[in-house]
Amino acid sequence: MRKPVIIGNWKMNKDLDEAKKLVKEIVSEKLDNGVEKVICVPFVYVTEVNKLLEGSDVGLGVQNMYFENRGAFTGEISPVMLKSCGVSYVILGHSERRTVFNETDEIINKKVKSALQYKLIPILCCGETLEERNLGIEKDIVEKQIRNTLDDISVNDIEKVIIAYEPIWAIGTGLTASSDDAENMIKFIREILYDIYGNLSENIRIQYGGSVKPNNIKDLMQKENVDGALVGGACLESTSFCELINYNL
Ligand code: PEP
Repeated sequence: MRKPVIIGNWKMNKDLDEAKKLVKEIVSEKLDNGVEKVICVPFVYVTEVNKLLEGSDVGLGVQNMYFENRGAFTGEISPVMLKSCGVSYVILGHSERRTVFNETDEIINKKVKSALQYKLIPILCCGETLEERNLGIEKDIVEKQIRNTLDDISVNDIEKVIIAYEPIWAIGTGLTASSDDAENMIKFIREILYDIYGNLSENIRIQYGGSVKPNNIKDLMQKENVDGALVGGACLESTSFCELINYNL
């Protein structure tokens, strides 16, 4: 049984007061125990947010990291630093990192390895552009991303990785892939994982991300292979984020 996982990606939003207010609101809600829930906050807030999450079952994550553990890498944040501040999850290879900051599959693969080495749970993103979908090459693109970014990840580690399928054209646009399209691609990703890892593929969680809202989450979560959601816009308000976590109540 794969435990559903709902993850909020705050991106570069909220000042410190707003961040604290949002976390306090989330932890004061009654949230479904059967769902793993995580908030991925800007680096500068992790220590404050970690304190506020104490005693709750909401996990703490961030949105990126560097793959080295220390040294002359001005401006970067290492997995060791994150661990020492109570962080457990890290989003890697988000499409905004790929497009705005030129992250390649090779860099993302190094980050996945490093996150696993330092016992952080990687939330590994993949997904095609609208142009690639219109050309009918979306499966080729996603397969290449999955195989490259998971290169050399061992059978011992793969079950810790959470994969997020996020078609780029659906992120922040209000356009959602239909639940059938999401299921179709996520099933395909599971087949690739089966090819690499055999039966372990059944234990690996694969989320959908792209304009997930309280009004479309149920439909997505009913699909056999969809194990959760990576959420941007709708995680910035406690009401909608908590509704997403409680989609099943
Ligand atoms: C995201 O940031 O990964 C995302 C899916 O954003 P949104 O839910 O706003 O489309």
